[in-house]
Amino acid sequence: MTHTPRKRFGQNFLHDHNIIYSLLSSLNAQTKDHWIEIGPGMGALTEPLLAQGLNLEVVELDRDLVVYLKDKFKAYPHLKIHSADALRFDFAALAKDNEKLRVIGNLPYNISTPLMFHLLDNANCIEDMHFMLQKEVVDRICAEPGSKKYGRLSVMMQYYCKTELLFDVPPESFDPAPKVMSAIVKLVPHAQPPVEVNNLKMLNRVVVQAFSQRRKTLRNSLKKLIEDEAISSLGIDPNLRAEMISLADFARLSNLIREEELEENCDNLPHSIC
Ligand code: SAH
Repeated sequence: MTHTPRKRFGQNFLHDHNIIYSLLSSLNAQTKDHWIEIGPGMGALTEPLLAQGLNLEVVELDRDLVVYLKDKFKAYPHLKIHSADALRFDFAALAKDNEKLRVIGNLPYNISTPLMFHLLDNANCIEDMHFMLQKEVVDRICAEPGSKKYGRLSVMMQYYCKTELLFDVPPESFDPAPKVMSAIVKLVPHAQPPVEVNNLKMLNRVVVQAFSQRRKTLRNSLKKLIEDEAISSLGIDPNLRAEMISLADFARLSNLIREEELEENCDNLPHSIC
């Protein structure tokens, strides 16, 4: 069967065997693992994963590709193919008997951020995740305070996970070639949160607010939420900009805010990411 890549499903198929090999060898896959692949497409990653004898389930949105995959991998009756939207898929239901899932995917770039947060809603049943993403997004996920790339995505992802850029992937590794560089990121959910957060929604709101005006000082950007003196009382300089504030300090700032204050002042904030 030939398949014309569909833009609306973010289809950029990997065809560079060196990249596939590098990714596969960085996984340290074991036969006891339970693997989930999101967006298997035409099976560029599925095939070598199955060839290693791994226990694998895949979730694919494009029904034509589901038909294709069922035929292509009919010699692997234990492969479960879920014809579903990964954004609405209940991944936790796949984890039986307290096992943890290992997740992999060359993700459609337009849904990568909401999909990662959807998976992180059930971070306790995930061992790790390897994703191919736009390099720009991987850089933002892994950025440290002080960097121009550091922002909401860095703070919230690093709250949930240890993040690591494994390697870059050039456009010509895909068919069709995307316009931008890609990269592989490894995300390992923390066993315990790295900082104490009383209310995750509050942390998200503070981070959204602080970075929505990233050139302003905390004094100005957080003015409706936290008094100047309260910021200083934590030993944080209110003249700093959001990009200088660590996850730990964002956590301490958000722990200062009462629930009622949030309700009163945050109605007009951009939509939350988690
Ligand atoms: N893994 C393959 C395909 C990557 S392209 C490869 O590396 O070659 C992205 C894949 O994700 C496509 O197969 C696309 O149909 C699928 N996809 C897009 N949106 C999806 C969604 N919401 N849920 C599940 N799969 C999705």
